Amino acid sequence: MKQGQSIYDVIISGAGPVGLFLACELALAKCGVLILEKADNPNSPMKKLPFGIRGLSSPTIEALYRRGLLGELEIHKRLKNPHATAVQQGPRRQVGHFAGIPFHEGNIDTSQWQRLPSSTETNLISEMEEIETVLTRRALTLGVEIMRGLALTSFHQTEEGVTVQSGEQTFNGRWLVGCDGARSIVRKSGGFEFAGTEPEFTGYSTKVDIADPEKLGSGRNLTQTGMYLQSQPGFIIIQDFDGGAFHNSEKPITKEHVQEVLRRISNTDVTVTTLHFATTWTDRARQATSYRNGRILLAGDAAHIHSPLGGQGLNLGLGDAMNLGWKLAATIQNKAPEDLLNSYHTERFPIGAQVLDWSRAQVMIMKPNVEARALNSIIRDLMDTRDAATYMAGRVWGIFTHYDLDGTHPFVGYSVPNFEFIDGRRIGEFMQDGHGILLDFDTNPSLKTLANEYGDRIKYVSGPANERLGLSSVLIRPDGVIAWASDGEPDEQSIKKAASKWFTQFIS
Ligand SMILES: Cc1cc2nc3c(=O)[nH]c(=O)nc-3n(C[C@H](O)[C@H](O)[C@H](O)COP(=O)(O)OP(=O)(O)OC[C@H]3O[C@@H](n4cnc5c(N)ncnc54)[C@H](O)[C@@H]3O)c2cc1C
Repeated sequence: MKQGQSIYDVIISGAGPVGLFLACELALAKCGVLILEKADNPNSPMKKLPFGIRGLSSPTIEALYRRGLLGELEIHKRLKNPHATAVQQGPRRQVGHFAGIPFHEGNIDTSQWQRLPSSTETNLISEMEEIETVLTRRALTLGVEIMRGLALTSFHQTEEGVTVQSGEQTFNGRWLVGCDGARSIVRKSGGFEFAGTEPEFTGYSTKVDIADPEKLGSGRNLTQTGMYLQSQPGFIIIQDFDGGAFHNSEKPITKEHVQEVLRRISNTDVTVTTLHFATTWTDRARQATSYRNGRILLAGDAAHIHSPLGGQGLNLGLGDAMNLGWKLAATIQNKAPEDLLNSYHTERFPIGAQVLDWSRAQVMIMKPNVEARALNSIIRDLMDTRDAATYMAGRVWGIFTHYDLDGTHPFVGYSVPNFEFIDGRRIGEFMQDGHGILLDFDTNPSLKTLANEYGDRIKYVSGPANERLGLSSVLIRPDGVIAWASDGEPDEQSIKKAASKWFTQFIS
């Protein structure tokens, strides 16, 4: 609850997609949230197609669906093929890549995935601007305050709360979450260790006019010195293996510089006549060794950075927000069992570490040297096999994502299937309010009694389903993760233990 008018439950630094989604989760649980955003204007050419294109993975799509937001995304209905430059149809349709090596739809054997069924798609594409617009609208509807043009400049935490400075202005909160991106001030000033590896390259995303475009190849071109990709005429991405030197120099990106790099990488004498815009990035891969320091937390790029190859960062950050929101809200409202908030780091850190390694592996086989080229060509051959394409797609689309939670049932820690009741309703539709759910296919009175002891923290949902995968009852966390499941008569001790691990009782 907001205390008076000036103490927020949570101050979030950064109104990027992760800060906005986290704010929505917290406000859904009735927390008072303020977002401070450095930029005056949320719009940027980098957030629009084609540079703003973002591949959404299965956990992200499920999260948006469960909060009733998926239907508000429109762009994926128009754009079905983000990766192919020459649009191919049928089984050779390119649906993703690893280090620029495409995998094709017809090679993916979804029956190999040990995945619980879901009615949402495994992947789709969206645009940064659209995602932020949808999330901003939802956040404002839920009562989140967003102050733009105000950068967090410093902060100080005590046992009771956090004081945040934005220039001369002071804001008070009980918690501060840094969602302020790769160069996060919250991370840098908050005593967080940021461990990892240094970059191999500077990446450029540019929009240019070129006098002699026929000199450049179309699509993705691996060359002796790097890589360039022309997704649409004039929209060029370049990877220059300079050890990240140009990006780190923070020098202005001039037309002359872009031309020099493009000429060198493409081995042509192409002429850039106009530079409309450009930005740089690297494959530096670092991760906060702890996502929490007292009342300060990190989420999204503030907690982990890596190259954008294979499109994982947004998905990773939105997963952080879905995991953190309900835990932080319960902590603020004194509804959290011991250690609930610390489970945010325990669960999300390993997922982040996997993504960092995934990006490092791609960079290794893109390097302009003979060893990398040799490995690249072997992976290229492998990618044309069913097993490799299925594995790669599964990794990129987050199909294997789960948490190692205590529990004897094999489904524990996985995203709950979108069970359909015989009246046509689906369990995902019951998750829009962000509460936990005790799903009882057999309408067992003792489970109803148990759920009642938790008030609205655990919602009791019962009724026969069309397909229940042999289950009789399931305890679902607010983020859609299975906390406990039973195939037959529920064991009273085990459901009580699981419920008290994630929720506190309303009446005891
Ligand atoms: C070229 C490229 C392609 C990509 N493609 C994909 C993809 O296909 N799929 C995918 O999942 N990911 C992709 N990513 C990564 C993805 O865009 C990021 O991981 C994602 O934007 C992270 O979101 P965030 O909210 O954590 O940080 P950001 O989007 O960086 O937002 C941080 C916000 O904080 C604000 N801010 C910064 N400092 C302060 C401060 N001191 N005070 C207040 N506000 C501040 C910034 O202005 C910004 O609005 C790509 C990235 C790039 C560069």
